Amino acid sequence: MNSYASTATDTAQATTLLNALKASLGTDEVLTGEQISDKYLQDWSGEKGGKPLAVVRPRSTDEISRTMAVCHAHHWPVVPQGGLTGLAGGAVPNQGAVVVSLERMSGIEEIDTASATITVLAGTPLQTIQEAAQAAGFFFALDLGARGSCQIGGNIATNAGGNRVIRYGMARDLVLGLEVILPDGTVLSMMNKMVKNNAGPDLKGLFIGTEGTMGIVSKAVMRLHPQVTGANTALVAVADFDAAVKLLRHAQQRLSGHVSAFEVMWADYYKSATTDGGIRAPLPAGYPLYVLLDMQGSAPEENAERFESVLEHALAEGWALDAAIAQSHSDAESFWALRDSIGEMLKTYAPTINFDVSFPISNIGICVDRMRKVMSEQFPDIHAMFFGHVGDGNVHIVVGPLPDDGRKTEHAIEDAYYAITKELGGSVSAEHGIGIHKKPYLGHSRSDAEIALIRAMKRAIDPHNIMNPGKILSD
Ligand SMILES: Cc1cc2nc3c(=O)[nH]c(=O)nc-3n(C[C@H](O)[C@H](O)[C@H](O)COP(=O)(O)OP(=O)(O)OC[C@H]3O[C@@H](n4cnc5c(N)ncnc54)[C@H](O)[C@@H]3O)c2cc1C
Repeated sequence: MNSYASTATDTAQATTLLNALKASLGTDEVLTGEQISDKYLQDWSGEKGGKPLAVVRPRSTDEISRTMAVCHAHHWPVVPQGGLTGLAGGAVPNQGAVVVSLERMSGIEEIDTASATITVLAGTPLQTIQEAAQAAGFFFALDLGARGSCQIGGNIATNAGGNRVIRYGMARDLVLGLEVILPDGTVLSMMNKMVKNNAGPDLKGLFIGTEGTMGIVSKAVMRLHPQVTGANTALVAVADFDAAVKLLRHAQQRLSGHVSAFEVMWADYYKSATTDGGIRAPLPAGYPLYVLLDMQGSAPEENAERFESVLEHALAEGWALDAAIAQSHSDAESFWALRDSIGEMLKTYAPTINFDVSFPISNIGICVDRMRKVMSEQFPDIHAMFFGHVGDGNVHIVVGPLPDDGRKTEHAIEDAYYAITKELGGSVSAEHGIGIHKKPYLGHSRSDAEIALIRAMKRAIDPHNIMNPGKILSD
């Protein structure tokens, strides 16, 4: 079914395909051989892929459509690439595939202030959209540490979560409309701006979180929220995980649903961020857990009293052991730097395994205890740092550095962690997706019937299995 340029016949097919792509798009859009730099070969997951036959860099919907039509006619695999910040290997090229990089499809098409929407090309960096929304008097709620490099098309394809999910939802909740190119080159325009539209099934859902296996996202209509002019931010040291949950529920109740982030960092993460990561420590290291609590609003001065009373209550109840309230924008930024230091940490502890699991919140404390026990009993020389968007049930764990033993230790730790995840009713991927990396564990979180339905949908949309083959599902 899939063609890979590995045999003499394939080489002839590859030449025919390349000629067809160049004839359709022009030579400038199609990189081959030495023109393909290393940046197209891997994403942040470190997963190893193959050398693509070509990298196509379309400038328009029409050029993507023509690329797909050519590849479809030749039954040739295609791998969509956004900003390559993915942590599951979804954008890593298969040997001999055609990479479609969205890097030239960047820009804001429209901000509709009446509808509170922003229409963007898929290759637009997330941060560019945040800044454009801000300049127009709105707030674009999606936010994650890779904001400067990741693209909105990649965010949609992975259904990215990030720092504000607790209040605004995941990428899926911000997408109103999409333009998608199907595997055969058909342009599916669903550039809806309405919040309500029940005229039949919600087709755009097929392309959100499906990691480029159903089509290529070329444009999107995204929802905007009213501008927030500031935030009340605190770093709180808490006694244990139960105390953190009590603080979360109390804050949500007292702050009328305005809690916009509730990020938890366990002691080892905090210590590492403030030592190896070199980030200023607003509170001393050594407390069991740290919570970054954020309440966004339009009048932070007016909210300050309510915000402080939440912290006072937590201290009085013994849930909180210590707290620091940001007194300025730069204080708040330095608190957030603790949480955003993950990019640096991944480099410091490389090679790492990056877990992105989720649980019913009531099971998170048990899960962390059990995973720690695995490390102390079986892998005492390897660090495991726990942190995450715990208000959404999402725990991240960076484990490393791993020994150079042909991935034996990596697989042993993964088997142990994902077995715990399955047993506690969790998900093997909260927000990063399955990609290549978590394929062996998909069945831990999805039933056979669900996987059969995913396969049936994939076959219906992509009968030749050319769209990002081998990602999410094994062929
Ligand atoms: C420091 C750091 C922090 C991060 N924090 C978070 C976080 O808090 N929350 C979170 O959810 N993720 C996080 N991530 C992971 C990553 O940033 C997200 O998964 C992001 O959404 C990927 O976007 P991208 O443009 O880099 O996509 P890529 O890595 O290029 O691709 C990701 C997947 O999407 C597909 N794809 C890309 N563009 C398209 C398109 N236009 N059409 C169809 N398919 C496409 C690819 O084939 C691949 O399967 C983080 C990563 C880093 C490095």
